[in-house]
Amino acid sequence: MSETIFTRIINKDIPADIVYEDDICLAFRDINPQAPVHILIIPKKSLPQLNDAGETDAGMLGHLMLAANKVADREGVADAFRLVLNNGAGAGQEIFHMHFHLLAGRPFSWPPG
Ligand code: AMP
Repeated sequence: MSETIFTRIINKDIPADIVYEDDICLAFRDINPQAPVHILIIPKKSLPQLNDAGETDAGMLGHLMLAANKVADREGVADAFRLVLNNGAGAGQEIFHMHFHLLAGRPFSWPPG
């Protein structure tokens, strides 16, 4: 697959405000935050979008959600945060390296826009 800007962040070729990192994932602040806390949680493995995942990705996907818990804890927002994943251009995905958005620090409405 083609490299995205997130691959360059993983490889530390370009800077990012990294808040969490381990062998499987990386979390960094969104450059255009939509909430006081807006952090992207990405796998180090390049997977364009969630529906490209297979059975062998189950552990990685669970790991990302547990990483979201850790990040929320560190940010002091563990009691109220929203985890968003845009799968495909029609759902608003712009960068085709799958990622969760962790949003917190303001009220959120439902249904989402
Ligand atoms: P999506 O629309 O779900 O693909 O989300 C892509 C997100 O990546 C957007 O919220 C962008 O603001 C964010 N973004 C793009 N480039 C960067 C960057 N260099 N550092 C941090 N966040 C970025």
